[in-house]
Amino acid sequence: MKKDSPIFVAGHRGLVGSAIIRNLTSKGYTNILCRGRDELDLLDQAAVNYFFQQNKIEYVVIAAAKVGGILYNQNYQADFLYENLVIAATLINAAANNDVKKLLYLGSSCIYPKLAPQPLKEEYLLTGPLEPTNEGYAIAKIAGLKLCEKYNMQYGKNFISAMPTNLYGPGDNFHPDHSHVIPGMLRRFHRAKIEGIPEVVVWGSGNPKREFLHVDDLAEGLYVLMEKYDDPTVINVGTGVDCSIAELACMMKDVVGYQGEIVFDTSKPDGTPRKVMDVSRMKSLGWEPKYSLADGLAETYQWVLENKIFDDGKTAYNRIRRGAII
Ligand code: GDP
Repeated sequence: MKKDSPIFVAGHRGLVGSAIIRNLTSKGYTNILCRGRDELDLLDQAAVNYFFQQNKIEYVVIAAAKVGGILYNQNYQADFLYENLVIAATLINAAANNDVKKLLYLGSSCIYPKLAPQPLKEEYLLTGPLEPTNEGYAIAKIAGLKLCEKYNMQYGKNFISAMPTNLYGPGDNFHPDHSHVIPGMLRRFHRAKIEGIPEVVVWGSGNPKREFLHVDDLAEGLYVLMEKYDDPTVINVGTGVDCSIAELACMMKDVVGYQGEIVFDTSKPDGTPRKVMDVSRMKSLGWEPKYSLADGLAETYQWVLENKIFDDGKTAYNRIRRGAII
């Protein structure tokens, strides 16, 4: 990518999109195009085609998606399936029709089979039944990955896909019910500390294991892929290290400086028992994550405090109303 190439980052206001913008800007890229939902509806094929044509887009990163934590995913499966399918189909097809040089699409570790062997290797995709709590999301994302692969095979397009693990960091969605585990728990620990609440509830048994990647490490990994990776086979981006939700809760308690007790609410779903990725292919490209989980959590908490995210619930709630672009 030349420093002045027109690059479209779809979903630039979300966790991933905003990190990609930070990353590209810090490297001196000057022609990054972003459009909010009010300016360009990614579900509108004609509008998206016109946008690509008018702006002579050369590179595309699809960081736009309807996303959410385990409960939100479970309860709104039709919306997750429909919106993510149409976003993928619309953007990938527009890129193909308008001679985009390279496109990067994002899957997620949660679209591997529920009981796949661990660590998850790229070839385990589509080898078993999916986790029911996010089946709608997973089917849409798998369709997006396959679209990239098929455009590559049929039309010789350089459309690639990456599979990020669970992400966190500045710009996340901190909604109390709709968010993923790190922002959801961070909010509860913070509130409990401020309000002197004697215990913090953690959803599920605490036994599931998850891998967490700081979003700025992901953004650097995606940059490496845009520069070096032209293979239609999906590639994992993660740390290769996991921890239990109970261990995560203890780390979070320390980061926030909360003195009370942790209790588990087993009426809430656990989801997949374990999700940790094999990241050897990504590492062979020379990429390594920089943040340890403890440092990343501390930095994220600092960002939350500086931006007064928990002082004013509006930010998180508005984002959900807009449809929770990543
Ligand atoms: P998942 O990786 O797709 O299951 O996504 P989540 O990040 O939503 O959940 C990860 C695990 O953390 C699940 O086992 C949840 O039950 C557990 N968990 C514990 N507390 C929370 C919370 O406050 N919010 C969320 N979303 N999950 C939580």
